[in-house]
Amino acid sequence: MRVFLVLLFGMGCIPAFSQSADESAIRQIYSEELSRGRSYQMLEYLTTEIGARLSGSPSAAAAVEWGRHEMQNFSDSVFLQPVMVPHWIRGQKEVGRVINSKKRGVVEMNVCALGMSVGTGPAGVTGNIVEVKTFDELKQLGEKHIKGKIVFFNRPMDPTKINTFEAYGGAVEQRALGPSEAAKYGATGVIVRSMGLNQEDYPHTGGLRYTLNIPKLPAIAISTKHADLLSKILKEEKDIQFYFETHCETLPDAPSFNVVAEIKGTEFPNEIIVVGGHLDSWDLAQGAHDDGAGCVQSMEVLRLFKAIGYKPKRTIRAVLFMNEENGLRGGLEYARLAELKKEKHIAAIESDDGGFTPRGFTMTATEPVRTKIKSWKPLFEPYGLSDFSNEGGGADIGPLQPQGVPIIGFLPDSQRYFDYHHTKEDTLDKVSKRELELGAASMAALVYLIDKYGL
Ligand SMILES: [Zn+2]
Repeated sequence: MRVFLVLLFGMGCIPAFSQSADESAIRQIYSEELSRGRSYQMLEYLTTEIGARLSGSPSAAAAVEWGRHEMQNFSDSVFLQPVMVPHWIRGQKEVGRVINSKKRGVVEMNVCALGMSVGTGPAGVTGNIVEVKTFDELKQLGEKHIKGKIVFFNRPMDPTKINTFEAYGGAVEQRALGPSEAAKYGATGVIVRSMGLNQEDYPHTGGLRYTLNIPKLPAIAISTKHADLLSKILKEEKDIQFYFETHCETLPDAPSFNVVAEIKGTEFPNEIIVVGGHLDSWDLAQGAHDDGAGCVQSMEVLRLFKAIGYKPKRTIRAVLFMNEENGLRGGLEYARLAELKKEKHIAAIESDDGGFTPRGFTMTATEPVRTKIKSWKPLFEPYGLSDFSNEGGGADIGPLQPQGVPIIGFLPDSQRYFDYHHTKEDTLDKVSKRELELGAASMAALVYLIDKYGL
């Protein structure tokens, strides 16, 4: 004991929390989740009974109903926030092929339309291909070499980045902005290498953003394996022709909802802590990691508090945001209403990086707030969370930031996220029940500390 005391005083640090009470409360949260957790069961229903739930689709509407119904079991109240959302549909399955390789003949490629892109219709797009890795390269080639051709953006995600979100960040402009960049020089269509680090047979969809007043080009993602093959063919035969056909279209905006559940605070009911994920997913997948996991983990925070009998001092809200993937309308509407109603949010936490093993939290907040959250690190270390160093948050809670709300992101291990992201492979069987539960408990532990000590 004496050795312990000497060490403690020797370090000159007095923790800014009542360590033993918090240690046991957090232990209780993890034990409840790991033995009687409901997060996986909820995810199973959302992904296998409801499935893909792109904004505006009947299954997105079913997911709203499910979320409202489910959260009534463990909250004081549930309400819906109406929001109009973009309604893009993929239509008939896409095709993409090299049509006249001298060496290989017709070569079918695994492709899919990019989200929010315009369709080619039955006529398709045919043309020679210009392969580029950067927008600079595209600019240097200019209209002279681009006009009338299909631009193929083929810059891989950088495999040397340890944080795969950094690798994604370094490549995703090709998908998001590439079609409009190519249109500036008179291209007729765009092919984008899928955002993934592996050699895969399936394409990754994802949203693009057309620039105003520039022609909207049809655009497809191609699997990483076929991106490499196409590049190889182009090195052998420069003048091959490519054909692709997409049948997607954008319908008028559709009515939808954010789903909000609350446990009212006992002492400071007007101070709100939000925890959330996004309920919509791309249409190709069950959206298990993106972002079914974040939804059920957020829901589970409320259920856990009820289960262990913890009555929060502040109001805890679980929010299932609608339309993160192709518009962010839910996140924007939530923030707009918060401002309009002068709600006092003391923190917003989002889980949208997959249901993998917890590593820590990211934060976009003032230095005192960051310091306070970091001071709780010793309480998380026994559960494997030690990374509290990076800026971050989440797309849906981002719009709260201008109101001065500290923005916090749940940070799971990132290594496998982009194996599944926006693909048909983002299914329940890719989620480990235990990892999902560890994440839910970690979020609940953080909410507990913020509730108890404020920020
Ligand atoms: Zn997501």
